Amino acid sequence: VEPRAKRWKGPGCVAEDSWEAYPVLSDEQSQDVELVEAFAAPILDKKETSRLVRELNAAHPFHGLQHLKRVRAVQDQGSAHSLEVLLCLVQDAPGTEAALSLDSLLSGAVGAAGLGPPFVVKVPARAPLTRPQFELVSQQWPTSFHEDKQLTVALRGQLFGPEQKARMESYMMAALAAAEAGRGLGMEPVGAAVVDPATDTLVAVGHDCRADHPLHHAVMVCIDLVARSQGGGRYCFRKYPSCRLARLDAAQPYICTGLDLYVTREPCVMCAMALVHSRIGRVFYGTVWSDGALGTKYKIHSQKDLNHRFEVFRGVLGRRCEELVKA
Ligand SMILES: [Zn+2]
Repeated sequence: VEPRAKRWKGPGCVAEDSWEAYPVLSDEQSQDVELVEAFAAPILDKKETSRLVRELNAAHPFHGLQHLKRVRAVQDQGSAHSLEVLLCLVQDAPGTEAALSLDSLLSGAVGAAGLGPPFVVKVPARAPLTRPQFELVSQQWPTSFHEDKQLTVALRGQLFGPEQKARMESYMMAALAAAEAGRGLGMEPVGAAVVDPATDTLVAVGHDCRADHPLHHAVMVCIDLVARSQGGGRYCFRKYPSCRLARLDAAQPYICTGLDLYVTREPCVMCAMALVHSRIGRVFYGTVWSDGALGTKYKIHSQKDLNHRFEVFRGVLGRRCEELVKA
């Protein structure tokens, strides 16, 4: 990552401001894959392999564990055998642990010819969702992986090219400018901008207005401004010129459908829920926050029981956004 950040010196980006946007993933995508114990055995006679696989697949199918490969190659050069085969999960093994001979494990349905003594291995309990997960679980046991190529590129911080990054930077600059203006008025230094990525235009910009009302966080201000463009909206921000609707557009299917939000700091729970409700397309934030609800304290954007989910990226102009909070 570091060499790339140094290499890129596109428009509007000074060297010390180099940044990468990384996706904020769900727990399922970012945590280690759980492992379960299984019985395996060395294949001493390779000629028996296809028969063993056929008989084992019939006698001990991997219910819900179809990602597991039945056979693995032995990496250790000094090993007397070159293949090992999964027999069954420990939890599915017939009989008691004390009597786990090869014969009891195969329970008469699989011929033991060509197999060595069984042993216990740990195998991934579910299919990996990301390349890092895949690489980790593959060290345990070979596993199939349906790669989301875009996610792999995003995890390397390489999803956005120089031109895109320059545009993203200009949107975050608008949010930063609003945050500064808000701070000048005694508000929390947080700014946000709503952008239409289809036309690359700024739709609304806002800053924290909590001095007016405890719920007027920068994100809430922006959503309200967008709602206003569609005949909704409840607040009036006329006395704050840095909170503005930059462009009135044809109504969206719903308030923020297809729109992106740029915000200097990770949003709180209330703002994150408002973003769910508004059907935001994507959220980009500069810096993480201890009370943040899009990655730090919660991952509201990836909650399966909510009716809308969206992508979140962190790190856009991360250093400048962090300095804003610290200043
Ligand atoms: Zn908030």
